Amino acid sequence: MTSLSWSNTRITVLEYCQKKYFFTYYSDGLKRKYPELWKTTKILRKLKSLDMWMWEMTHKILSLYLFELKKHILDNGPIPNKNAIIDLVSKGMEETFAISKANDYTDFVEFWLSEHFYKEIDDSALAPVIQKIVANLEAFIASDYHKRIEQRFRKWHHIYIEDPRRPNFEMMKVDVRHIPWLENISILASPDFWLMFGDNNYLILDWKSGKESLDVSGITDQLRMYALKILLKQKNTQIENRHIDVYEVYLPSLHEKSGTIQQEDIDNIITKILEDVEYQKQFLVEQDAERNQPLNHTAFTRTSSGKKCIWCTFRSVCQQLKEVESAE
Ligand code: SF4
Repeated sequence: MTSLSWSNTRITVLEYCQKKYFFTYYSDGLKRKYPELWKTTKILRKLKSLDMWMWEMTHKILSLYLFELKKHILDNGPIPNKNAIIDLVSKGMEETFAISKANDYTDFVEFWLSEHFYKEIDDSALAPVIQKIVANLEAFIASDYHKRIEQRFRKWHHIYIEDPRRPNFEMMKVDVRHIPWLENISILASPDFWLMFGDNNYLILDWKSGKESLDVSGITDQLRMYALKILLKQKNTQIENRHIDVYEVYLPSLHEKSGTIQQEDIDNIITKILEDVEYQKQFLVEQDAERNQPLNHTAFTRTSSGKKCIWCTFRSVCQQLKEVESAE
């Protein structure tokens, strides 16, 4: 097993439910004693909900559009063809949806919808998802963000656009060698879009298409993490003369959380990661992050909130494991 890792998603899962954290990251602990449960859990780990898929496909369609916009501005490529991009993504989704529907869920594949696994949807579920994705792209194109990005492309130094078609794990890694006590922890974080322009000016953008928080105060931990990643690339944890503007933008409403990163934001996120890692270590044998061997599955408790279980991907295996745990 590789050493312990930290990511915003990972700590969110742990805070949501310890058992879900076990199923998501440590289910190999079931393999020897309960091979059938282990196999089903492995299949369930690949499931996505329709909402999660919609979010992923929003990132994909925006990324395709931004790559074309970049090519248009920097390499004199054609103007991005919005309709061709929508067509490409819609057709891909129709094919994927059909594959997911036809699966019998007895063996491992790369993609399934949890609603198909639990037999909760019919074919009419697809069209509204595609419509939402198209609405998200159109909201972005009509927004001020589009104008700002276009202008910044013209003054670019360095541009990063996440490509969900080809996840680049090397690019996602955060170099934590300059933070004592985190040397053995691997950290993955990657904004959807960032660019450097002028001297030491950065813009970081992250799209959100899930349930909106109406809170506009403060900068989220995820945005702080992305800013820290930029500093660490320069072997530093001090802002000094750097100016980092961060935006979390909800689509299609364009509701945003944004701000300019201060040293306090960086110090706070480092402290949070250190605290999170200490918490994560409590679920490891001898709290050894390098070995990263989980405690027995019974050490991971279930959430007491029934509401969280209603849509949990692992609800079928969770119930089966509960029965064997009570018989143990
Ligand atoms: S079904 Fe509920 S208790 Fe079980 S893993 Fe999911 S959220 Fe946790």
